[in-house]
Amino acid sequence: HAKELGRNNYQWFSTALDTRAHYRIRLRNELQEAIETSQIQVFYQPLIDARTGQTRSIEALVRWEHPTKGIMPPGDFVPLAEETGQIIELGAAVLKQACRDIVALHASGYKECSVSVNVSPTQLRKAGFADTVRDALVQSGLAPENLELEIVESAVLYDADQVISTLNDLKGLGVRIVIDDFGTGFSSLSYLKLFPADKIKIDRSFIKDVIRDRSDAAITQGVISMAHHLRLDVVAEGVETDAHAAFLRRHGCDLLQGFLFSRPMPFTQLKEFMVANQQHLRDTKTPNAEEA
Ligand code: C2E
Ligand code: MG
Ligand code: MG
Ligand code: MG
Repeated sequence: HAKELGRNNYQWFSTALDTRAHYRIRLRNELQEAIETSQIQVFYQPLIDARTGQTRSIEALVRWEHPTKGIMPPGDFVPLAEETGQIIELGAAVLKQACRDIVALHASGYKECSVSVNVSPTQLRKAGFADTVRDALVQSGLAPENLELEIVESAVLYDADQVISTLNDLKGLGVRIVIDDFGTGFSSLSYLKLFPADKIKIDRSFIKDVIRDRSDAAITQGVISMAHHLRLDVVAEGVETDAHAAFLRRHGCDLLQGFLFSRPMPFTQLKEFMVANQQHLRDTKTPNAEEA
């Protein structure tokens, strides 16, 4: 890895920089090729209704199936794509694929599910983003109320007026806005009043030790309560254990997402997950439970 080379090569500083620069240029070119061929894939992770156990929504998470490096997680290339501007094209491709896939899922009988797509601040600030979203909806035939866009709170730190106006345009289309990684963005709570959000996602760093750490527990309970007073839904991400899920249910969290239910998976596997999820609900249904 060039990163490691850069760290060890302190004696030849410029050489190390050259190597790093070359690595980045190569990665950028490879990423361009990946976008143009079909190496960019979308994986899916379900969001589970904390009360009923049903899958309510599905988060789209990009993966790069690199010809030699294997499946690369977004952390390895999304930051670079943001710097180079490739995130615009990459993000639009993910959005289109996610809309198409969820329409196919609806067609196989799972009509209650929406899809949630991550949008980086760079995409949001680019003029015409709302048009990109409208095109994806029109081309796929997905109803706008079945699309959610996940945005980190720090997206409104710069250009607040412009970003909020774009968010309002998006709301105008009928899509929902989710604040992702809530609590990590160093943004002021006053932004929350301006942010036209429908849903808050509590960052998984608060969930990890929520059973043992009093501060994490207090923050998690507080965010759930605050969100409900603001009439927003709350999701907890990083739900890994039954204890996590029990704590979150007890405190009224609406939706749960994490490895406890499923890791992100390719679309073909998602369909299998949906079948198993429905079967599980039928098997565990109490006589008075509501029909799906
Ligand atoms: P995120 O939106 O907060 O997504 C949740 C991340 O947490 C995902 O990592 C997911 O695999 C991981 N995760 C889910 N459940 C658990 C769990 O129980 N335990 C643990 N330890 N992790 C869990 P992933 O897929 O590597 O994505 C990382 C980040 O990359 C995302 O964080 C998002 O910010 C960004 N990203 C992913 N896809 C896209 C995309 O299409 N566009 C943009 N702009 N960013 C994306
Ligand atoms: Mg997200
Ligand atoms: Mg998140
Ligand atoms: Mg996160």
